[in-house]
Amino acid sequence: MSETTTSMTDAERDEQDRLILDSVDRFLDRHVRPVALKLEHDDTYPDEIVERMKELGLFGATIPEEYGGLGLRPSTYAKMIERISSVWMSLSGIINSHLIMAFIVTKTGTEEQKAAFLPRFATGELRGGLALTEPDCGTDLQAIRTVAKRDGDDYVINGSKTWITNGIQGSCFALLVKTDPTAQPRHKGMTMFLAEKGPGFKVSRKLEKLGYKGIDSAELVFEDYRVPADRLIGGVEGRGMACAISGLELGRVNVASRGVGVAQAALDESVKYSQQRKTFGKPIHEHQAVAMKLADMATRVSAARLLVQQAAKALDRGERCDYEAGMAKLFASEAAVENSLDAMRIHGGYGYSKEFVVERLYRDAPLLCIGEGTNEIQRIIIAKRLIEQNPV
Ligand SMILES: Cc1cc2nc3c(=O)[nH]c(=O)nc-3n(C[C@H](O)[C@H](O)[C@H](O)COP(=O)(O)OP(=O)(O)OC[C@H]3O[C@@H](n4cnc5c(N)ncnc54)[C@H](O)[C@@H]3O)c2cc1C
Repeated sequence: MSETTTSMTDAERDEQDRLILDSVDRFLDRHVRPVALKLEHDDTYPDEIVERMKELGLFGATIPEEYGGLGLRPSTYAKMIERISSVWMSLSGIINSHLIMAFIVTKTGTEEQKAAFLPRFATGELRGGLALTEPDCGTDLQAIRTVAKRDGDDYVINGSKTWITNGIQGSCFALLVKTDPTAQPRHKGMTMFLAEKGPGFKVSRKLEKLGYKGIDSAELVFEDYRVPADRLIGGVEGRGMACAISGLELGRVNVASRGVGVAQAALDESVKYSQQRKTFGKPIHEHQAVAMKLADMATRVSAARLLVQQAAKALDRGERCDYEAGMAKLFASEAAVENSLDAMRIHGGYGYSKEFVVERLYRDAPLLCIGEGTNEIQRIIIAKRLIEQNPV
């Protein structure tokens, strides 16, 4: 793309987004839909699909054009993730945690870090994700124990991370550590690094999962891992928690979009099946009990999509959106869980079969209630903001 996004009119931008989304649809129909079921059941990393995602520029979807990315607005990115997740949710994870890392560098990195890393992230030459969670803490991130100590021009890092998406296939991670483990408040001692694999950075094991297969989730161990001081994101210690929070804004919109995609897929499968399957001499959608489920499922999808677009558009405008993103993530992930269970009920025994897509949707959906801040935490954020906005 030669023209920069800033010089485009809204109509031109909408048209450009439409072309990108159309090409994503074609890619999904040709290269993902026919193989997703088998790759997922075999828990096989989709190497060929990843190569095509690179060609399409998806690893640079939200990276600014000046650094070689597509420069998509979060609201367009959300539509793209919905489409991908309606076909195979695992693919969205391969690009999302990578793009969270890129988003953190874009928002909080130094100019040198942006110039050195964003173009390589955009092509997919350098891929990775976000390393926050540790064996003893996920929600309470300020309790992390991974420590970085300054040593000359380097920092030396020791500790471990778990559940890291792209941990095996990726080679660079936005790594949250403590540079001052005694700091109070605790977040003031937290710092984030761009950590590329090298001596002392080990993948200790791949984690087996209920769903979300085909994509690697791994435990990472750091033993006297040396990282040059210029890889400290933003160049100043103590801002790691702020970096993580800025990345999770995009992450929550992404997880919410995945929820819409999974909920939509469950609805689509159910609308189709309920017209094909007959009991007592009529298609099952003519039984009121099934029709009611279809109506509830469709309503959930539409409501979730509207909430996601509301949050993503706030992010487009650069506004604070934890309230909107929290609601979108909460509602859309629960919609995915409810719709996938309803789809399974509508499919009867076939819903429990590994030959039908709904079985996968049912296994994929619960992750959305956990990742990028559990839904319990989203409720806490929403309530807190509600009180802040309405003081008495
Ligand atoms: C497939 C998968 C992929 C993942 N990918 C990544 C990744 O790429 N990078 C990464 O860093 N992490 C990743 N995670 C980790 C994920 O972000 C954490 O699992 C999540 O944040 C929850 O943390 P936890 O598992 O430690 O649960 P805990 O924090 O131990 O929470 C346990 C329960 O207690 C509740 N709870 C905790 N604190 C409170 C509170 N204050 N009030 C009310 N309820 C509370 C939680 O909601 C939850 O129900 C991944 C996880 C999975 C399963």
